[in-house]
Amino acid sequence: MVDFALTEEQREIRSWVRTFVEREVMPLETEVLRRERRGETHGLTPEELRDLQLLAKRSDFWGILTPTEYGGMGLDPVSAALVEIELGRSFVPFRFGGDADNILYHANAQQRERYLLPTIAGERVSCFAITEPGAGSDAKAIRTRAHRDGADWVINGEKTFITRGHEADFAMVFAVTDPAKGANGGVTCFLVDREAGWRSEPISTMGEWGPASLVFEDVRVPEANVLGEVGRGFELAMQWIGKGRYLLPARALGACERLLAMAIEHARTRETFGAPLADRQAIQWMIADSQVEIEALRLLVLHAAWQVGHGRDSRHAQSIAKLYGGVKANEIVDRVLQIHGGMGYTRELPIERWYRELRLLRIYEGTDEIQRRTIARDLLKGHVTVGSTLS
Ligand SMILES: Cc1cc2nc3c(=O)[nH]c(=O)nc-3n(C[C@H](O)[C@H](O)[C@H](O)COP(=O)(O)OP(=O)(O)OC[C@H]3O[C@@H](n4cnc5c(N)ncnc54)[C@H](O)[C@@H]3O)c2cc1C
Repeated sequence: MVDFALTEEQREIRSWVRTFVEREVMPLETEVLRRERRGETHGLTPEELRDLQLLAKRSDFWGILTPTEYGGMGLDPVSAALVEIELGRSFVPFRFGGDADNILYHANAQQRERYLLPTIAGERVSCFAITEPGAGSDAKAIRTRAHRDGADWVINGEKTFITRGHEADFAMVFAVTDPAKGANGGVTCFLVDREAGWRSEPISTMGEWGPASLVFEDVRVPEANVLGEVGRGFELAMQWIGKGRYLLPARALGACERLLAMAIEHARTRETFGAPLADRQAIQWMIADSQVEIEALRLLVLHAAWQVGHGRDSRHAQSIAKLYGGVKANEIVDRVLQIHGGMGYTRELPIERWYRELRLLRIYEGTDEIQRRTIARDLLKGHVTVGSTLS
């Protein structure tokens, strides 16, 4: 049996988040846009974000994917995707509080108190640092080195494009500890406090938020700061990246829904040559194609989430959803901009902002080409077969 219906609880969650976004988040859009246009703050200030998160917490929206024993909601992946779709409907970069990187749950008792729990509580900010100037898609090519010195490890190297790298209190840093083994048992993950001495430099991007480069020069950390086991870091990195790839296209899907609604409204009201744009087949086709792709993306995202929730190997489905979401979201925002004509290109409307932001989806956490590589490899090596989706 194929059942496309959401559960009662999933419908309630979606409805609550939709109302929250409409009442609390969307009203901030004008101000966020105004500040960004003036080159002041990007998105929300930390205080504004915190206040909104605490407001949501009063209704128990805290720690969407955080296990209940850690005070979170422990939602199933399909519900988490539904939440993300709703959040994506606003360009205000709001996220619920109470979450921590999945790999931090590998923390031992001491690390748990120092890193995991304060991150969940929102008291500490983490960043995930694997990419280097010479190693992006090819993450196995990382060169950052950690060598033992007495009871400590000493880290040297440079990381780049690290999200929250300039704000983070600590970094989860992946370094080579055994060059002979490399990614096959020779990479280790270290929890490195900013006070340990690493430097960060923001990187300016075409988006409204920027990652940072991190420099490690003889940064010393004790053995106690190894996350998981020495030599098992690459597996942790893959676990982090694979944690919820479906959530990225889910957010883009929400943006596409809002953008298409804007295009429909504009097509209805804007008249050219004595008739509304909505009467023109050229415009209708752009609207129709966008709607078809939005609905296809919804199924891909929710199917990938469903696979995660059922403990299946979801890598193939997640790659498909990420690739399709990145490509189609960019096509949709481009069409919506086109339907708005010159106004779409201005900074009076948020379309160009979404245009810049959605472009990132085709690059980070696995580029389009890397997703295609995964999908093709799965098929060519026989890990999946054509048409086996529902088996
Ligand atoms: C805003 C932003 C935030 C980021 N946040 C983080 C973060 O928090 N932590 C982190 O560690 N990293 C982060 N990244 C890094 C991101 O994951 C990498 O940029 C991405 O993996 C691509 O690596 P690269 O930039 O080195 O491109 P490259 O790997 O140099 O690729 C360049 C181009 O070649 C293509 N290509 C590469 N290999 C192949 C191949 N085998 N076949 C065909 N085409 C190929 C790529 O698809 C791409 O189009 C972030 C990046 C950005 C832009």
